[in-house]
Amino acid sequence: MTTLPDPQQLSPLQFRPLQFLKGIGPARASALAAAGWHTTWDVLHTFPRLIGLPPELSATGPLPAGVAVRVRAQLVHARPRFAGGRGMALEASLRRADGVLLTARFFNAGYLRRLLIPGEWFLWEGRTDATKPNLLLHPAFVHQSSGTAAGETADDRSICRVAYRLPDGVGERAFIGLVDQVLEHVLPHCRDPAGLLTDQEWQACVHAAHRPSDPLAHEAARRELSRRELLALAWLLRSRRLAVISAPGRAVRWDDETHARALARLPFSLTAGQTTALAEIRADLTAAAPMYRLLHGDVGSGKTALALITALAVIAEHRQAVLLAPTAVLAQQHALFIGRCLAGTRVRWGVLTGGTPANERTELLRAAADGTCHLLIGTHALLSDDVHLRDLAVVVIDEQHKFGVHQRAALIDKAAVRPHLLLLTATPIPRTLALTAFGDLAVSRIVGRPPGRAAVTTTAQAGGLAVVERALTALCVGDQALVICALREASTNEGGDTSPIHDAANVFVAVQKLYGDQVSLLHGAMDEPRKLAVMAAFRAGTCRILIATTVVEVGIDVPTLALVAVLDAERFGLAQLHQLRGRLGRGERPGICLLVHAAQADAPRLAALVATDDGMAIAEADLAARGPGELLGRQQHGVLRLRIADLSRDLDLLHEAHQHVRTHGGTIPDALIPWTNQPPADTVSDAG
Ligand code: ADP
Ligand code: MG
Repeated sequence: MTTLPDPQQLSPLQFRPLQFLKGIGPARASALAAAGWHTTWDVLHTFPRLIGLPPELSATGPLPAGVAVRVRAQLVHARPRFAGGRGMALEASLRRADGVLLTARFFNAGYLRRLLIPGEWFLWEGRTDATKPNLLLHPAFVHQSSGTAAGETADDRSICRVAYRLPDGVGERAFIGLVDQVLEHVLPHCRDPAGLLTDQEWQACVHAAHRPSDPLAHEAARRELSRRELLALAWLLRSRRLAVISAPGRAVRWDDETHARALARLPFSLTAGQTTALAEIRADLTAAAPMYRLLHGDVGSGKTALALITALAVIAEHRQAVLLAPTAVLAQQHALFIGRCLAGTRVRWGVLTGGTPANERTELLRAAADGTCHLLIGTHALLSDDVHLRDLAVVVIDEQHKFGVHQRAALIDKAAVRPHLLLLTATPIPRTLALTAFGDLAVSRIVGRPPGRAAVTTTAQAGGLAVVERALTALCVGDQALVICALREASTNEGGDTSPIHDAANVFVAVQKLYGDQVSLLHGAMDEPRKLAVMAAFRAGTCRILIATTVVEVGIDVPTLALVAVLDAERFGLAQLHQLRGRLGRGERPGICLLVHAAQADAPRLAALVATDDGMAIAEADLAARGPGELLGRQQHGVLRLRIADLSRDLDLLHEAHQHVRTHGGTIPDALIPWTNQPPADTVSDAG
């Protein structure tokens, strides 16, 4: 939805509901609205992609059959004609300047008739029939307002050589008509929202975006529009950050004594990287402004320990902390570690997941509400409306990319005073993304990993289950293995063109034949108690080989894990594979990560994983290969929904925009508000 700016600032024409345009009734308007086009502004800023240069104009000589052609010809007449099984067709008779007669045939397009005025000249573009070269099938056409019959005119170039990305139900031809109207009636009243170009320059730029005279003009227009979009983004991020850090919060004392006592609870001493990151968190908490920080550390870098120390700092003041995890398996994993650390202390903690029995839940909710439970660990179940906390001071969200903005907000709203917020992620964030998706966050990094980690070897190999079975045979007594499948159950192979994928159910049956009850199966559709029981057995070692889907992506911390084998590895994101590999080498046992891929698969992409253990390098490779969505999780797109800018090309503009916003300060100019493309204020409530 578009936020309407101050009408004083911009011509209100730009924000005319589309219904006011010719040919757009209420029904059409609501179809367009459903697809995201509300006003003329939305139409003007739908940036088309260039789809090449138009075919050569054929002014003389015969037309070839079955190819795309472009001709200028005068309309002789247009008549409806019954076209057999295909309903009513409209047939137009055309005459080229050299006298050659052509026919243009349109199917089910009676509406075009009123546009086809006999005696007028049009530029026609479309395919000729495969056998009758003088028959044009459903060609696009533009009226030649100059009326000329010869000579290249400006009109020739204005024929659509661009394509709009349109949802089902919005026809290209109709949309182009809409653009034409807006260009003609609205654009002449538009001014540059950034105030950098004159009205004329700006209007020429927007025009070139839709009706480019050549590829260079199109790209130049794209850059100018991107510049505005990124300026708006930079302003938005700044205002979000300001809203967060200027909200009244409460400082935590966190003195040296509290600090030392909390550290003493850990079974290890912090690494240098952890110590640095913790100091940043501590500095945030001891200030009144609420913390809004992303803690990034590669898999196994030890983020949980920092979350615990942070929680203990507020608990020391008899306040409360919440630790939110995306899965019950992970919540349980945290509880195990935290429970061990807190044994023998007076700190009370509890775990709340969807599977918590009703009586336990009631008891836990009571303790959370009256403050006797200090640390609440859990899954989405924590977000429920009946979960109340007496004095919530810090919220930690693990694997934060698995949660949306709403979910964050739901937790934050449980506090009377805005709590400190710490987001954990193992997904290394390339600089490009950090500047957009997380531009409003402070970021800490845990550099390095805890000592005593055994080496992990990664190999990629073409093949199937046999490769995995061979690797299993090579395991030593006491070693454990994790076999990851892309699918839970065999699905019918709809496309038919892809090779069948290994599914966990079948792999389980096959491996069980060899290893009997040492093998267990774990996937997302199992109920929670069952999942937790399987995980407990795996942790205890009674289950040696676990066949699983990516429900285990996070939450396995088993020191005797010696093999992680991934079937159909090419189907996974690199960052995800890196996560899975991160389950290895947690004890003294060296680990083997085996990436088994289909013979014809994209092995070079996997080679990045074999080559490096550096999460950041892998994330950059993943970003290039799969785009930001995969890396950030589905719900993170809010800020990334850039319509026009492409960060692989426009990163310089983003830097420039951040710089501009820093030097100018203040709030976003009204004219740029529509560019922020933001959902209504309530969905960004985590920021304010
Ligand atoms: P992640 O950052 O992936 O969440 P965890 O917090 O799960 O990592 O830590 C990974 C493992 O390393 C855990 O077993 C944890 O107990 C251990 N660990 C964390 N910090 C240290 C440390 N400073 N020294 C030794 N082991 C540590
Ligand atoms: Mg973790």
